[in-house]
Amino acid sequence: MPVRTLVPCDVQTLILLLPQLAAVDVELVVVEDGVVVVTAATRDGPAACTGCGQPSQWVHSAYVRHVADEAVGGRPLRIDLQVRRLYCQNPACPKTTFAEQVSGLTRRYQRRTAALQRVVDAVAVTLAGSAGARLLLILHQALSWATMLNCLMRIPEPRPAIPRVLGLDEFALLKGHRYATIMIDAQSGQRIDVLPDRRMDTVTAWLRQHPQVRVVCRDGAAGYAQAVTDADPTILQCADRWHLWHLLAEAVRKEVAAHAACWAGLGPPIREGRRASTTRERWKQVHELLDHGAGLLECSRRLNLGLNTVKRYARHDEPDKMVTAPQYRPTLVDPYREHLRARRAQDPAAPLAALLREIKEQGYTGSANLLARYICQGRVEADHATLSAKSVARLLLTNPDHLRKDQCDLHDKLADACSEMTALAELVAAFANLLTPEASNTVKLSDWINRVRAADLPFLNSFTTGLQRDRAAVEAAFTMPYHNGRTEGVNGLIKLLKRQTYGRASFPLLRHRILLSSSNPQ
Ligand SMILES: [Zn+2]
Ligand SMILES: [Zn+2]
Repeated sequence: MPVRTLVPCDVQTLILLLPQLAAVDVELVVVEDGVVVVTAATRDGPAACTGCGQPSQWVHSAYVRHVADEAVGGRPLRIDLQVRRLYCQNPACPKTTFAEQVSGLTRRYQRRTAALQRVVDAVAVTLAGSAGARLLLILHQALSWATMLNCLMRIPEPRPAIPRVLGLDEFALLKGHRYATIMIDAQSGQRIDVLPDRRMDTVTAWLRQHPQVRVVCRDGAAGYAQAVTDADPTILQCADRWHLWHLLAEAVRKEVAAHAACWAGLGPPIREGRRASTTRERWKQVHELLDHGAGLLECSRRLNLGLNTVKRYARHDEPDKMVTAPQYRPTLVDPYREHLRARRAQDPAAPLAALLREIKEQGYTGSANLLARYICQGRVEADHATLSAKSVARLLLTNPDHLRKDQCDLHDKLADACSEMTALAELVAAFANLLTPEASNTVKLSDWINRVRAADLPFLNSFTTGLQRDRAAVEAAFTMPYHNGRTEGVNGLIKLLKRQTYGRASFPLLRHRILLSSSNPQ
């Protein structure tokens, strides 16, 4: 026998809390096995036919519908509503009988109120199958993942206006194997459509069906360029500025690596840390003793240093020669240096075992020996940022306004390393200026390409060959305000959506979620 609690309350208070019940007669409110059950019935009077809209009062029969609603006070709410089936009196109407619907409470074939359905739909769009089902369980709605997906696929697809400026980009359905095409409004970022592949004929067909598109922003992929030309040669094509910058960056990295020998020694000077002062102090002590006629062995004994160490100090006639930044290779300890540095600043005698334990908890996979050597070499305290081709290239590619003073100095030194590095630094800065679109950039671009041709920079040269091949679109990129940056954001969202369904979602499901998640929930 279920536990039933009769809840005495007046109808006015109830309608205040549950306004969706205003249009029906509430008969009883009980709590049954932890579920709030409202028993209600529709009122007498005419109801509009769901087929033709003509009102009718001719009752055929009555039956009870169980409608789930949003939980109240942490308890699921069910409305047991008696509704009528009525005859339609309109002879022209295809319906003989129809079931009455209560606005805000019931919909045909739905066992959830409109309010609850809105929640379920929003969860389905955001989390899809099983994650969505888990969240809804917390909200007192037990739905299977399959039901969630059904709800999701039933949500009508948004129909955005076709924009004049379209952004076109590909994204991986299965990296390296299957790709799809995303189309967005390049100005508002609104998602327009998702095509199941990146084939030329698919894109061409879509563009032919949507002649409103007059400008297409795309990356350098030759496929899209041809597809747009095939669809309509009068569509203006615009390469993506940031994609061009990305290609330039790649060429710069290769040039920098090719000149590694020219900049290798330009690393930042060693910090004036403890290690440097110890070195200077020891050098002074060793040379004082030697000047007073002590032998190497005697120095070693008095200063409590190894004989080889004393010999090393004795060999150098200036302490500063010994204080140079050693060129270390990257090790597994590097990522934890900041932690070690902070710990040793706090407690210079922190035991090795404790430090090892701490960084192991953070994911260090190296050995105790490696850590010990790292600490002995003074690499925790000293900041020997050994230069890599990547970091040098990054420095050259960074807007000088965003560089710290020391980075600026290093940038200048790198630009002076050799004539090719000088040319490279200048060309990068000149290219960066092209990224602000203006009409004069067409001339500046030609000038830039000529300067690259004149310099001895093979990788940059082949970059300009690519620019020439797509010249019209590249010029558009540097003279028009359009860009494809917003597809980047969409790509991030797509990755998230794919992971939520463990990459197993079918294309129609993924497409539906991509298009739906662009419109904000009401
Ligand atoms: Zn009708
Ligand atoms: Zn060089």
